[in-house]
Amino acid sequence: MEKLLVLMRPEDIDMSAREFLSMYASYMDGAGIVGKDPSGHALFESKTAPVEEAHTKFFVEWVDLTQALGIHTAASMDFYTDVWFAKDPKYQTVTSEGQTMHHQICPNREEFWQYGAEVVKELGTYPIHEILLFGTGFIRDKFCFCERCRSEFAPIIDQEPSRLSYDYIVENQDHHAKWHEWRSQKVHDGLRVLQDAATEVDETVDRERPLSIAVEMLMDPETGLSEGAKNEYGYDYAKILEITKNVMINLYPWSPILPVPGQAEYDALVEALYFTTEFKRRGGTVSLFRWGLSTIDSVREMKQIGKDAGIDRFMGTFGYPNDYSVRRESAVGNY
Ligand SMILES: [Zn+2]
Repeated sequence: MEKLLVLMRPEDIDMSAREFLSMYASYMDGAGIVGKDPSGHALFESKTAPVEEAHTKFFVEWVDLTQALGIHTAASMDFYTDVWFAKDPKYQTVTSEGQTMHHQICPNREEFWQYGAEVVKELGTYPIHEILLFGTGFIRDKFCFCERCRSEFAPIIDQEPSRLSYDYIVENQDHHAKWHEWRSQKVHDGLRVLQDAATEVDETVDRERPLSIAVEMLMDPETGLSEGAKNEYGYDYAKILEITKNVMINLYPWSPILPVPGQAEYDALVEALYFTTEFKRRGGTVSLFRWGLSTIDSVREMKQIGKDAGIDRFMGTFGYPNDYSVRRESAVGNY
């Protein structure tokens, strides 16, 4: 068995939390449980998000037991990936052509940051050490053209909000650079609100170390691995180092196949991970993450990349998020 932090959903486990942990705890390098999933529902007794009642008892049992066993415990939380909240068209992120996304929130929503902050505070009252935060940026560079983003960004480049389009932005390098900078500011302002919530809840509970937020960074060859990610998604590891000091690199999120040693693509990936050395040297935590780790080989492949990139913390799920196909489509689709 290869040690890693496995992020579980209660239905992945066909026995009680106690039985499962007594069998597998010694193989685990941390235990993760889904806290709020991409459907927008909480698996714990939330007063903020809608609750999947069937799982709340398991959630409490799980985190109480992992704490009792001294296992590092994480709970996941989907942030802008939130189908329930995105039912309100006002919050949906939108393409330049006006196509709305029914599963993802526009990151330029201060009131949604507050909503996320409440969820962080609620999770933080449980005996967990870390929140694994998914869905942390824009879908791609072509987002977002909702009313609010149009009306805020258009004046920055002296354009009418209604006439703002992606084509208009990218045909001018200066406009495009301002677009990146403006979106990046939104993403990090949102993360700061969540980090502040984590700090705040720490003052009310007895926790050995501060509650840490691992921020998902998608590492996708189509979006230029780590450097390209800054412009596509809006997040920047240097800023994350200032805010949460914790990144979770989601390797090749839209592909079932990872590159292997000997391929040029493998070398490019390892090189794209070089930033993590400096990130760690300055006190940050770095993990490699992968969805769909269904075989030992898939775990070993990820660990090989970690070994070559100097990363020794690994996480993953056995399955895929329940909105995977729609998320993949919006990420790789030609919107
Ligand atoms: Zn927007």
